[in-house]
Amino acid sequence: MTDKRFASQADLAEKTVSFDKLSEHAYAYTAEGDPNTGIVIGDDAVMVIDTQATPVMAQDVIRHIRTVTDKPIEYVVLSHYHAVRVLGASGYRPRHVIASRDTYDLIVERGEADMKSEIERFPRLFRAVESVPGLTWPTLVFEKRITLWLGRLQVEIMQLGRGHTKGDTVVWLPQDRVLFSGDLVEYAATPYTGDAYLSDWPATLDALEALRPASLVPGRGAALRTPEQVKEGLDGTRAFVTAMFDEVKRGVAAGADLRAIYRTTYDALKPKFGHWVIFDHCLPFDVTRAYDEATRYRDPRIWTAERDRQMWETLEG
Ligand SMILES: [Zn+2]
Repeated sequence: MTDKRFASQADLAEKTVSFDKLSEHAYAYTAEGDPNTGIVIGDDAVMVIDTQATPVMAQDVIRHIRTVTDKPIEYVVLSHYHAVRVLGASGYRPRHVIASRDTYDLIVERGEADMKSEIERFPRLFRAVESVPGLTWPTLVFEKRITLWLGRLQVEIMQLGRGHTKGDTVVWLPQDRVLFSGDLVEYAATPYTGDAYLSDWPATLDALEALRPASLVPGRGAALRTPEQVKEGLDGTRAFVTAMFDEVKRGVAAGADLRAIYRTTYDALKPKFGHWVIFDHCLPFDVTRAYDEATRYRDPRIWTAERDRQMWETLEG
């Protein structure tokens, strides 16, 4: 028996969806800390950024889009490879699924393992999981940056650095100053760092901040609708990532083992961040990756359903 239910298996209460207009062309589909979807409406087509976890769940996003436009949904952008964000893609029947080369490579390398692992971690977030036809394969793969014109609307799809994963992609509307950050930024939700590059993440947040967004759709949490709120989201994410990694590095330097470091890190972070959603789910994965990065693994190791359980038993058992 473990002290806590594994990952998010005890989290079964449905959330309320918000569909917020951020600019003439941008909307945010959010749900109280569940994974968000961004929407860009151009002159002739609609783009969706992150899809929800299943095609059936995507139908609710489409219903909301259809309250504001009847233009075709032609593009899906994957902010990164995580199953809970990408496996609903087929529900939109897009002309193109766009991802960075690094995200594509991660899908090839670990997409299958990640799908199995995430379905067990988040039973509520994979509603109608049987509707998932398999992995989501990008049809348009870019390196560093690609510009897409939706009629007169300029859409910048960019990799500004590693953080949450090595493939992190943001979507930026320079005319409207709206940024879709994926899981590089969370708001009142705990950053998941199990596949992260913690040494790089703060500098990547600086690169996002340098765009000076007027509004920002984070990976989880409410849309940030003023520059002050955007700053709060960036600062909060930076504070968590930095505090967590510093705590783990201190433990490593003192020669402590992973389980002991997990305890001290949990106790150090709980007062400040414990009220953020999925704190108890994320922290064992976060500390495990931080320990790896602080010791001998430059790149995140692949999580499998089996490795998830072993880790949980080691840290929470
Ligand atoms: Zn993610």
